[in-house]
Amino acid sequence: MVRIVSCDVTDCSYNKHNACHTLAITVGGPNDPCPSCDTYMHGNQKGGIPDIQGGIGACKVEKCTYNQALECSAPSVKVGVHQSHPDCLTYKTR
Ligand code: SF4
Repeated sequence: MVRIVSCDVTDCSYNKHNACHTLAITVGGPNDPCPSCDTYMHGNQKGGIPDIQGGIGACKVEKCTYNQALECSAPSVKVGVHQSHPDCLTYKTR
């Protein structure tokens, strides 16, 4: 699985010390081809598994150069805030 090497979205429930701690995120909204993190959850409750480094479970952004059959093939991925929402920063237009 492609790993998330860092995530700067520190107000997400799954974020701890600028790292994602859920098993796998989904990138791309249901009707939205932009590379947003669809797993982002804002709340006071902290979730995830401390020892886990998050990965990319699925990516719906077909126009990314790393997308193959709706799966990510990048060496690794960074997630961060872009235009005030959480995005895959490794996204590269095909
Ligand atoms: S690098 Fe591209 S294919 Fe991989 S998760 Fe980000 S947007 Fe999706």
